[in-house]
Amino acid sequence: MNMVPSPADAPTGRAALQVPARVAAVIDGEPQWQGEVLPVVDPFREEVVAELVESAADTVSRAVAAADRAFREGAWPRLPVEERQSVLRRVADLIDREAAALAALECLNTGIPLRQLDLGQIRRSACNFRFFADYLGQAVGEAWHQTPGVTTVVLRRPAGVAALIGPWNAPLALTSMKVAAALAFGNTCVVKPAEQTPLTAWRLLELLHEAGVPPGTVNLVQGRGSVSGAALVGDPRLARVSFTGGTVAGRAVMAAAAASLVPATMELGGKSANLVFADADLDQAMDAALLGIFSNNGQQCLAGSRLLLEERIAGDFLAEFARRAGRLALGDPFLPTTDLGPLGSRVHQQRVLAHLRGALADGCELLAGGPEAAVPTAGCFVAPTVLRASDSRLAICQEEVFGPVATVMTFRTLDEACRLAADSRFGLVAYAWSRNVDTLSRLEAELRVGTLWQNLPMTRELRAPFGGFGESGVGREGGRACEAFYTEETTVSRATGPRPPLRRLGL
Ligand code: NAD
Repeated sequence: MNMVPSPADAPTGRAALQVPARVAAVIDGEPQWQGEVLPVVDPFREEVVAELVESAADTVSRAVAAADRAFREGAWPRLPVEERQSVLRRVADLIDREAAALAALECLNTGIPLRQLDLGQIRRSACNFRFFADYLGQAVGEAWHQTPGVTTVVLRRPAGVAALIGPWNAPLALTSMKVAAALAFGNTCVVKPAEQTPLTAWRLLELLHEAGVPPGTVNLVQGRGSVSGAALVGDPRLARVSFTGGTVAGRAVMAAAAASLVPATMELGGKSANLVFADADLDQAMDAALLGIFSNNGQQCLAGSRLLLEERIAGDFLAEFARRAGRLALGDPFLPTTDLGPLGSRVHQQRVLAHLRGALADGCELLAGGPEAAVPTAGCFVAPTVLRASDSRLAICQEEVFGPVATVMTFRTLDEACRLAADSRFGLVAYAWSRNVDTLSRLEAELRVGTLWQNLPMTRELRAPFGGFGESGVGREGGRACEAFYTEETTVSRATGPRPPLRRLGL
């Protein structure tokens, strides 16, 4: 593996950094500085870079009250579509204007290589706002006129206060999707970023206000899931909960929402199969397989973490895959030469290393990386690891590791490929590489996954639904899916012409 030195004078992109000293809840546009103070850490230098003021239950309650008031009395839910669209487009423009600073902030806080943020996640955050602005202008309604004298129309109205909870692996990209969708359909919201990565959400709130989102429409709470998160999802004034995170927390959040009969979407974990057949374009499949598991430091819900290879090509493919995994550059995420930065935190690094030790104890063959591989001494690094497994029931093939760790198994027949791919309690995505249309059609029919990419690396189509089967989640995000989720329908039937006389009662 290559380790990238980080000389003090290297042009690292840190020049764009503007780090807030403290972040806190924001209610009605006002920061709330009371509360327990937690450190915000740079996982590369393992330094405290900012402080987070955690929102206790009463702060969370005031945030929900502000959103509730803004929903019942405020301007946002009542704005004409054109005005809402232009505010959302302004938000997108401001994200573009601030892209370098936002990318640097996200890089500092997550350890994700700047190169991947700059053109990827931060641009995507701007796209989220533009996408929903455009969608809004094209949304269609329903009306029925078939019954003579009766016209029925369906009113779609904003649902109310949405709790929007985000994870730490792609903070701005994922949270901005929720905020853009909730706002587009006229809702107000309370956003809770992950406690480890609160910095870009703080900045987003400033940009939302600058763009013209009225204070109180989007409120922010901060802190741990067990403190501010639990207080938020237990609030009966919510109309919607949208959660992205792990399956364990997702269960707790869904149970809390159910207590108030609040609809909730869950974007949860994954353990996705990447199937490579002998007839595929193997060069492309190779590049995509490496990206699929090693981009974003391996911390992606949609990672292709289970590489399934047709036996005929497995030997050469695997040797090359392991060789290239071993050549990835680990180091300072600000350097343009870095492929993998540190994992999100020391705690998470230890969890990933424990998975690796367990896999070796279970008899997996180590082809690259591993728990003892040399990594930069500072920072929470895990070497890109490739493990050959003999049984897909092993923990390493079943549990979401959420790090740069690929397991590899081989198959001889399409039946066997389908069985291996389906052997998971998750069902977020799958990747399939083959030139045979029958093979691809069979996989379409068999795999119970939210998204199937055929001869493509991960490619998000915002118009299409995204979400998972099984333990990967409940509900979908995307154009129409978000419209359905963030609105309530009222059916209005009205007399519009002569009708047969009514049955007359009580004469
Ligand atoms: P996590 O579940 O620990 O935390 C996610 C968020 O939920 C954080 O903001 C956290 O503070 C909050 N939270 C935790 N417990 C809570 C509770 N009881 N009530 C309310 N809020 C609570 O997840 P994470 O470790 O931050 O993120 C990694 C996980 O997210 C992985 O499993 C990954 O696959 C998943 N993920 C899924 C998608 C997707 O679209 N399906 C996208 C990204 C990440």
